[in-house]
Amino acid sequence: MMPFDYRRAPDAESAVAAATGLAGVAFLAGGTNLVDHLKLGVAEPEVLVDISRLPLDSVAELPDGGLRVGATARNADLAAHPVVRRDYPVLARALLSGASGQIRNLATTGGNLLQRTRCVYFQDVSTPCNKREPGAGCSAIGGYTRHHAILGASAHCVATHPSDMAVAMAALDAQVSVLGPEGRRVVPLVALHRLPGDEPHRDTVLSPADLILSVDLPPLPPGSRSLYRKVRDRASYAFALVSVAAVLRVEDGVVRDARIALGGVAHKPWRARRAEDLLLGSPADEEVFRRAVDAELAGAAPLAGNAFKVPLTRNAVVSALRDLSREER
Ligand SMILES: Cc1cc2nc3c(=O)[nH]c(=O)nc-3n(C[C@H](O)[C@H](O)[C@H](O)COP(=O)(O)OP(=O)(O)OC[C@H]3O[C@@H](n4cnc5c(N)ncnc54)[C@H](O)[C@@H]3O)c2cc1C
Ligand code: SF4
Repeated sequence: MMPFDYRRAPDAESAVAAATGLAGVAFLAGGTNLVDHLKLGVAEPEVLVDISRLPLDSVAELPDGGLRVGATARNADLAAHPVVRRDYPVLARALLSGASGQIRNLATTGGNLLQRTRCVYFQDVSTPCNKREPGAGCSAIGGYTRHHAILGASAHCVATHPSDMAVAMAALDAQVSVLGPEGRRVVPLVALHRLPGDEPHRDTVLSPADLILSVDLPPLPPGSRSLYRKVRDRASYAFALVSVAAVLRVEDGVVRDARIALGGVAHKPWRARRAEDLLLGSPADEEVFRRAVDAELAGAAPLAGNAFKVPLTRNAVVSALRDLSREER
């Protein structure tokens, strides 16, 4: 492990000030991802700014009926929050499907959003990886690709984003509050993560001194139902091969609201806009669900080792929508 300077910030403004102007800086929250990367030599910051004790761990109801989730709120606490369990089952299920109880007790909201890909080559510093070292090449292309992207990848990187929570938040139209050297701004969660393009080393639109403060979840319209379905190699303690976060509102057999986000298939939580457009105003039946997901997957470009993800995604989305629409009857 490279030596680094450790600083503990008393408040958000000091944390940002401590990071401003430094390229080799990282915020330390729960440390469940970052500390592994320090040990592996994947991350080599000169300065670590500890934000784990900042007063950003509350989960508070908003006047419009939504919820504000602090950046250092722990994944376990968020999953157990009564409003999350009642109003956002998609989020509670996504959180509980991730990692283990011990890790969820430490992992934070901001850290979960900004955790890095689980591409095996990214984590192995003996192999070329454009995300770790721009211009080095991509070992996954032509290599082991079972867990890699089928949508939105590039010739420079085919990695997937590993978070379950972020997929649920993408379907919920969450908004991320960020404090940076230039002040505060709000970034829609669906615009936080990037596709790899020719800069796969940039996971998100944030810069090194940008601190996530909180995530707002808007209220869901009355009658909405939601669920999270995760398909993986083991029943627990495994990242998604494919996951689906779906929010559906059906009235008199017609789809009035549909929000679908996919995990395990792209460099970012993938909002299935084409499928959503096709569903809106259509009958809530299985044939429509199948046509909608096929429209989304028309742009899929599977790799040698992950063609199975196309039918797996199709089946996971159709079964999620079928279950949600059945509950309506
Ligand atoms: C064995 C194992 C299994 C796992 N399985 C799953 C799984 O199935 N599904 C899943 O979703 N996750 C899984 N995880 C990942 C886990 O959810 C993440 O490690 C965790 O959520 C990261 O949160 P943290 O607070 O520990 O982040 P840290 O490790 O502290 O930080 C992660 C990154 O986020 C940055 N960061 C943290 N907070 C902020 C902030 N407020 N503003 C700006 N930057 C910030 C850090 O600088 C760092 O780059 C697993 C992890 C392990 C170790
Ligand atoms: S897929 Fe991306 S993260 Fe994995 S080796 Fe290629 S460049 Fe690196």
